[in-house]
Formats: sequence, C-alpha cells, structure tokens
Amino acid sequence: MKIQKLSEEVINKIAAGEVVERPASVLKELIENSIDAGATNIEISIEKGGKSLISVKDNGEGIHQDDLTLAVQRFCTSKIKSEEDLYMINSYGFRGEALASISAVSKFKLTSRVLGELTGHQLYIEGGKFKHLIEVGSQLGTTVEVKDLFFNVPARQKFLKTERTELIHILDVFTKYTLNHTDKHFKLFIDKKEYYNLYPSTLKERIAQIISKDFTRNLIEIEYENQLGKIYGLVSISDSPNKKGYIYVNGRPVRNYIISNTVKSLIGENFYILFLELPPYFVDHNVHPSKIEVKFRKESAVVNLIKGAISEKINPFNTATFQKTEFQLNQNVVPYGEKKSQFEIIGQVENTFLIAYYNGELYIIDQHVAHERVQYELLMNEYLEKGKISSQKLITPIPLKLTPDETAKLINLEKSLNKIGYEFKIEEPNVFITAIPSITSIEAAETALNDILNSNDIFIPIEEMFSRISCRQSVMAGDKLNYEKAKSILEMWIKTENPNLCPHGRPIYYKISLDEVKKAVGRK
Ligand code: ADP
Ligand code: MG
Repeated sequence: MKIQKLSEEVINKIAAGEVVERPASVLKELIENSIDAGATNIEISIEKGGKSLISVKDNGEGIHQDDLTLAVQRFCTSKIKSEEDLYMINSYGFRGEALASISAVSKFKLTSRVLGELTGHQLYIEGGKFKHLIEVGSQLGTTVEVKDLFFNVPARQKFLKTERTELIHILDVFTKYTLNHTDKHFKLFIDKKEYYNLYPSTLKERIAQIISKDFTRNLIEIEYENQLGKIYGLVSISDSPNKKGYIYVNGRPVRNYIISNTVKSLIGENFYILFLELPPYFVDHNVHPSKIEVKFRKESAVVNLIKGAISEKINPFNTATFQKTEFQLNQNVVPYGEKKSQFEIIGQVENTFLIAYYNGELYIIDQHVAHERVQYELLMNEYLEKGKISSQKLITPIPLKLTPDETAKLINLEKSLNKIGYEFKIEEPNVFITAIPSITSIEAAETALNDILNSNDIFIPIEEMFSRISCRQSVMAGDKLNYEKAKSILEMWIKTENPNLCPHGRPIYYKISLDEVKKAVGRK
C-alpha cells in the first residue's frame, strides 16, 4: 500500500470533527474568539437552530488583512508563541484550530477592520476552499458568519438534531458565557427576532435576566479561600425553578463530575454557579480540543475546597445556628407509645412533622420531604440499575388536555419520559397516557406530568422528573399519619443515601441535642 499525505482540505475536514460537533460548538468558539479579542459588545444571530446561520459580530481588536488567511489555517494562533506560554494561558484560544475547522465544514465569511485602517476586509471560504478576499466597508471589529454547517459532510449533517434541540444547546452556550462575562453587552437574535439584550450588570442581575427573576433573592453568596485556591459564586438551597449547575475553572466554563457531585451532595439538586481559581499547574484544560472537560492534579483537594466553601454557609445544624434558635413547647404532641431500640418515634405535630428520638438527639422531621427523599431514591436506584423505570400499562388510556406548547414539550421529552415509565399515544392534537411509572398512583403520575410540562426549563433532566414524581407521590404537610405509616416512612428514610436534604435541596429535619437542652435548663 502506498502511503500518501492527506491534502490540507481533507485534514481540516477530519480535524473539524473534534472541534465542531454541532452549531452550539461553533458558537462557543466564536464567542471565545470575540472575548479574546477584547470585545465589550457581542451580537449573535442564529437561524434555524444554527443549521443555516450562526453569526457573531464583535467590537474587538479585529484581524489585520495580512493575517486574515493565516487566521483560518490550522495551528495558527496569535495567543501563544512557545511551549512555556502553554502553562500561563489567559485566553480561551491557543490551539489555533477553531476557524480552520469551522471553515472546512461550512460557508464561512469573516469580515474585519482594525483600528487605523479606513476599510475592512472580507475573507470567504466554502467547505475549506478559498473563494475570495476583498476590501469592504466595515465597522471596527470582526464579524464571522457561518452558513449551512456540514453542507459538505452529509453524514455529519444527518446527525444534527431538530432545530429545537440544537437551539437548546445554543442557549446553553450563550448562558454559560454571558454569566461569566457580566461586564459585556450581549445581544442574541433568533430567526431575526431579538431574544436577549443583556446590558453589563451584576451577576445576580444577569441571572435574573437570563434564568429567572424569582429566585435570585434566595441565592446564598459563597466566598472562600484555602491553601489550594479561591472559590466564589452563588448557590441556592431552597427549591429553585432552575436546577442547573454552572462551573468555571480559571475563567473557563467546564464540565466536571467531581465538582458537580460534591456540590450536589451538599445542596441537593439545585441551582449553583461557582467560579474556581486554581493554580495553573494544578489544572489541565487541554484534555479535549474544545476544552470542556478539565482534569485536576489532585481531586480530593478540589473536593475539600468546595466542601469548605459551601458547608460553612449552608449547614443549618451547627451549634452556632442552634444557639440562635428558640425552641417552643408544642401542646399538639401525640405520643404513639411504642419504643424502638434505636429510633424512637414520639409522635406527629401539626400533621406536618414527625418527632423522633435517636442517640441523644431529638429529631423534628418534615414528613413530606422525608417521604419525597425515599421515593426519589427508589426511582433513582431502579433507574441506575436498569436504565429505565418499570411501567404499568393503563387499561383505559387517559386523555390529556394540553396546550400546543405543552404538546410540543411532551413530544420533545417523550424519549426521557419513556425511560421513567410513561408511555403515550400521540395523535395530534390528542394525547393519551397509556402507561405510568409502576411506583406511582394514576393521580400522582398525571399531576407530576403536568408539573414537568409546565416547568419553565426547556431541558428537563431525568433527576428533575424524578423529583417531580416523588413530590406528587408523597404524603403532604397536613396529612394525618397513623403510627404504622409514620414508622414505615421513617424506617425507609433512615436508610436513604442522603437523609439530610430533599431532592430539591431543602433540609429534611431539624435536630436538637439533649445535652444542649440539659445545659439550657441547668441539668448536669
Ligand atoms: P485560537 O483562538 O486558538 O487562537 P482560532 O482558530 O479560534 O484559534 O483563531 C485563530 C486566530 O484568529 C486567533 O488567534 C486570533 O488571532 C484571530 N481571531 C479569530 N477570531 C477573532 C476575532 N473575533 N477578533 C480578532 N481576532 C480573531
Ligand atoms: Mg479560538
């Protein structure tokens, strides 16, 4: 067999696969380039979920005409010069691959004017083939227009999802970068309509504009530092409408399950945004061409940093909080009488709290959230074990009354809903439930589905669906429980993996140490 060097065109097309997965990855690279160029104003236009157009216009430093053709060649970058620079990067880009990759698989137009030049220049490339470089009138800064992504790679084009799904990914990228650059003005147009116009603001204001107005006042500020590094951000411990977590390491939005799992173990399924500043030698961003994944030298050190930062703010059971809390005797205690060797159930108060004694401490347990935690873990464990929740077929399918929006959402979520035990017969505009998760009652299944379809989020993770179902499937505050029911809930609850927090991150119980009580009443 004769060995040949591949042409530049083919190399770029292959390499593009690593950087350009979908329209959202193009947007990510273009926003990063604009920010690296010092832009303070970034205007984005998306058409047809980014399949037909992704355009990013900035007021950054621009690219000189002599550099235009270099900018789209692989491994051509203005951001690092030598290997040493690799260890102190303070720009998003440094591999010089993005523009080469994007222009290899699209109709790519780059227009730019630098300070000191009277006119701008425009470079046009189609599927990696140079078409023209002309002089044009242009504002200061750079505009990149990427049309018909993957038009010359039909196999890749086929793998793109619906416009709606691609748009969800695009909005995710947009959100990540706008939250990280609150000092910049961003505009987003979708199918020619203005979708966001975000003026420079504080982080909280931006969260209110882009995620939700309702919950910003419930966010807790985190600021913490130890030998390893610094961390700051906001976390929500009350039930937030948005459960997403945003993690930034040294300025870069990243995905890292060590961090996300640690945060989850502390605040439950809840919104958070955390900015970590770690020494450069400690972090490797260069694991993947798009730099989304990140590796740490020592994971336990990062876990400690996060635990230190969050637990000092959220732990409601530490002595400091206890001393500030007044305990009032309640007349409504209904004693059940029976004693258990380990966990002694004392009674129910106001049909809402279960009172129990264990190991020198008095527990006041919110019956609804304790039950919710039990249901949630049952669902989660079955899902993790089998990849699907078992379902029960309904003899008579239930017709659903849905708005067109809800129907669209249901169709969009159908696959995930199938995984958690729901099945549907869809004959637009009519939709019927034909099967529900085995563990739920018909009524709970229907209300939980309604909750899911009415949520403001476009994308709803499986965990979130589980928490909706478990909420609807649980005893409520106000339900009178007999001893047997209370006992069965508490027995299952003590065995859960995370008995401290409900799936939405709300504390499940409050406990009082009898030693403290003894001190308070002067008993030795
Ligand atoms: P990298 O960002 O890794 O350097 P890219 O392929 O993304 O590689 O970009 C190549 C070069 O083109 C950059 O190093 C930069 O000099 C220039 N460039 C790209 N986009 C812009 C922009 N919006 N404004 C100014 N210069 C840009
Ligand atoms: Mg770049």
